[in-house]
Amino acid sequence: MFGGSPPACYLSRKVVGLTERLYWQDAYMTEFDAKVEGVEEAGVRLDRTAFNPRGGGLVSDLGRLNGVDVVEVVKKDEEIYHVLGGGATMRPGEPVHGVIDWERRHRVMRMHTTAHILSAVVNRETGALITGNQIAPVESRIDFSLEAFDREKFAGYVKMANEAAASGAEVRSFFMKREEALNTPGFVKLAEALPPAGAELRIVQIGSIDTQADGGVHVKNTSEIGEITVNKIENKGKSNRRLYFSLRP
Ligand SMILES: [Zn+2]
Repeated sequence: MFGGSPPACYLSRKVVGLTERLYWQDAYMTEFDAKVEGVEEAGVRLDRTAFNPRGGGLVSDLGRLNGVDVVEVVKKDEEIYHVLGGGATMRPGEPVHGVIDWERRHRVMRMHTTAHILSAVVNRETGALITGNQIAPVESRIDFSLEAFDREKFAGYVKMANEAAASGAEVRSFFMKREEALNTPGFVKLAEALPPAGAELRIVQIGSIDTQADGGVHVKNTSEIGEITVNKIENKGKSNRRLYFSLRP
């Protein structure tokens, strides 16, 4: 996301030894096999996972591991922990089969790509920065730092975002050396959240609409988004505007 604040999409490192992030390789993977690496207070840690953890404003995936409900997935020190329902637990070394709640996940992917497009349009048209966001399956919101607010102009930005989504732009992701990303204008928008030197950043590119360092899940083509509808815009302080949006169908 744009702006200078950590609540927007997080930067993520590709570090050897951590849970392999299958959702980076294929955001459309709905089932996977893995092995339990550790069982800790924070949850169950696997050698690989397709569950996208809560972070960067995105809600976590839900689903099942060996038939047990996964009620939350969290990230701590770049590690991923699966919280099981009903106090269930697992043994280290145990093989597991994971199933993602795909309906929820795909809605979050559509919402997330939409948030990038809306933010890119509003930033381009007004210079407003993103100060926060919350991406959820049914309704999402973006906070813009913007003093002058014109309802009619905003309706125009939403129309532009819808046109951009309907254009069928391809979304792709790749890794880039931190230094290289830093030297590419606009790629890294959260300077204070930067990983250490030498690390790689994951870059997400939405056609010619938006490119930035980003760790979250997206659709592979913006034609999957559908129609963006704005539910309301609230004033949250003198220069903060909170925009709530949904997607149809
Ligand atoms: Zn993002």
